[in-house]
Amino acid sequence: MARIIPLTDARTLGDPLAAARSAPAVTPTGMLADTRGRSLRDLRISVTDRCNFRCVYCMPKDVYGHDYPFLPHAELLTFEEIARLARIFRAHGVEKIRLTGGEPLLRKHLERLVAMLADIGGLDLTLTTNGALLGRKARDLKAAGLDRVSVSLDALDDEVFRAMNDVDFPVARVLEGIDAAAAAGLAPIKVNMVVKRGMNEHEILPMARHFRASGHILRFIEYMDVGHTNGWRMDDVVPSTEVIGIIGRELPLEPIDPNYAGEVAVRWRYRDGSGEIGVISSVTRAFCSDCTRARLATDGKLYTCLFATEGVDLRALLRGGATDDEIGNHVAAIWARRADRYSEIRSENTRALPKVEMSYIGG
Ligand code: SAM
Ligand code: SF4
Ligand code: SF4
Repeated sequence: MARIIPLTDARTLGDPLAAARSAPAVTPTGMLADTRGRSLRDLRISVTDRCNFRCVYCMPKDVYGHDYPFLPHAELLTFEEIARLARIFRAHGVEKIRLTGGEPLLRKHLERLVAMLADIGGLDLTLTTNGALLGRKARDLKAAGLDRVSVSLDALDDEVFRAMNDVDFPVARVLEGIDAAAAAGLAPIKVNMVVKRGMNEHEILPMARHFRASGHILRFIEYMDVGHTNGWRMDDVVPSTEVIGIIGRELPLEPIDPNYAGEVAVRWRYRDGSGEIGVISSVTRAFCSDCTRARLATDGKLYTCLFATEGVDLRALLRGGATDDEIGNHVAAIWARRADRYSEIRSENTRALPKVEMSYIGG
C-alpha cells in the first residue's frame, strides 16, 4: 500500500500541482477514508464518451445528434495514462476496476488496456457494455485478463429493445454477445435492465423467465436522474419493491445475504433453486453510506459521485510532470474531502443542480 496522507489544505486544491507537492505523508490506518468513513475501493474508468446506441434514458438522439461535440482524441487519456493512474489508485486501496463509457468496446484495441491493467495485479477487472460488439471481442478480452462483464439489456421483445436503444439494434445480437462472453469464461455474467415506466416494465417478467436458470444474474436498475438530457421524472421510476412483487407472484423469491458489505444490488433467489436476481434501488433506497466508488471520466477528470458537479483534472497532473507520489497525494486529499451523498438528499432542489452526463462520467 502507498503512503497515506491526511487532508491536504482544502485551499490548495484549486492548484493541483501545488496541492500534490505540499501533501504530507502519514499512514494512520493504511486505508483512505472520506469524511463519512468510506474507503476508496472501486474505480470506474470511462474509456470513451461515444456510443453506438442512443438509449432514450441516457443519450437521447435529439441531444446526441450528428453534430454533438464529443471529445477529440487528444483529450482522451491514453492507455498508458490510464494504466499509470490505475497503478496509483491500486496503491491507495482500490481493489476493483470497471471499464465503462459511453460504449467501452468502441475504444480501439481495448484488450491492450485490459492487459496493462491485469499486469498491475490484485485487481478485479470488469467491464460494462451494451453487448453489441461483445460477440467479436469476448475471447480477446478474456485472454487479455478481463475477469467478468456486465451486459445492459432492457428488453427481450425486439420492438421494445429497438425503440429503447433508438438505433434499431436487434436483441438477438446482444444475446449472441452474452453467449460469446459465457463461452469465453467471462462469468458470472450480470445482465442489467434499466426499468422505465411506460417503456419496458412489461418486459420484467419475460426477462426474469428467460434468464432464470441461465447462470446469468439479472439485475433491475431504477431509472436515475443522471445528467440533464433525459428529462427524468420521478413518475418514470419503477421502484424495486414493485419489480420484486411482479416477479415474486409468478416465480416465488426469497432475500439472500449480500456477497460483501456495501454491495449495491440487493440479492434475491428463486425459491425453487433456479438462480438469483438483484435490484439496484438507487432512487428509492439510497446506498450512499456504503459508496466506495470513484469515477475517472474519459478526459481524466476524477469524480467522487455519479451526480457530481465538478471533477478534478488528473490529466493536467499526468501531462504536467507530476510524480506518482504527487498524484497519489492529490487523490488522497480529494478522497479525504469527499462528502457526497446525492441519492440520500435527492429532492426537487438537488435535481436542478448542474450535473455531468452518464455517458461521459461512466455509468
Ligand atoms: N454503454 C455501456 C452500457 O450501456 O452498458 C456502458 C455505459 S452505460 C452509461 C452504464 C450503465 O448505465 C448501463 O447499464 C445503463 O443502462 C445505465 N444507465 C444509463 N443511464 C441510466 C439512467 N438514467 N438510470 C439508470 N441507469 C442508467
Ligand atoms: Fe450507450 Fe450505454 Fe448510454 Fe445506452 S446506456 S446510450 S449503450 S452509454
Ligand atoms: Fe455514491 Fe453518489 Fe451514488 Fe451516493 S449518489 S451512491 S455517493 S455515486
